[in-house]
Amino acid sequence: MEKERSKLQGILQCKCPRCRQGDVFEKPAFSLNFAKTYRNCSVCNLKFERTMGFWWSAMYVSYAFTVAHLITVMVAINILTKERPALWVFFTAILGSFIFFVPAYFRYSRVIVLYFLGGTNYTTNPEVWEAQGE
Ligand SMILES: [Zn+2]
Repeated sequence: MEKERSKLQGILQCKCPRCRQGDVFEKPAFSLNFAKTYRNCSVCNLKFERTMGFWWSAMYVSYAFTVAHLITVMVAINILTKERPALWVFFTAILGSFIFFVPAYFRYSRVIVLYFLGGTNYTTNPEVWEAQGE
């Protein structure tokens, strides 16, 4: 039997919120199909898209990640440079660094929404899984 994961470990490793064993995403984060999400958990059969359009709510979390990224890069540029750099420096730094983080922001926004708004609680008891009808 696999060692139980904490909630934080489950989120960081993108595991199912109910059993914390099954993967949420089909492909690795750094692949072209990084967004491909399983329909159901391979272990407990939890349906990941809880309701129709459930993933739309992940956009708000993703937006928060984007704004935090933008502010962080702009503050870093202002700290690292003595004079105010040209506008293209900001754009290049923000876009260049943002592309690298897109898979992480996308995946973690979905996982965070799934954990906190998905309406499921962690349990290893298969009888509870059946009682929830999924
Ligand atoms: Zn599961």
